[in-house]
Amino acid sequence: MQDIHCCVPNCLANPYAPAGTRSVCKDHFLNFLTWRRRRGPQMFHAYAGMAMEKRDTIAAEWMKTIRRDEIPAAVPKL
Ligand SMILES: [Zn+2]
Repeated sequence: MQDIHCCVPNCLANPYAPAGTRSVCKDHFLNFLTWRRRRGPQMFHAYAGMAMEKRDTIAAEWMKTIRRDEIPAAVPKL
């Protein structure tokens, strides 16, 4: 199934690249890449080898962070 718009809520830009099973626009795709890099090289490379369902989980996690992107997120260490 093809997306008509970027799958980020309230974004009406054209889809550019996949994020999980859905598509995001260029800006959001770059944002997603940056976010994954920030999570560390392990996450960055692990994503490439993940199954689609797992990627969707990561993409969903990322989408929750979009709105407060300007604020440096205090990432809780487990
Ligand atoms: Zn977008």
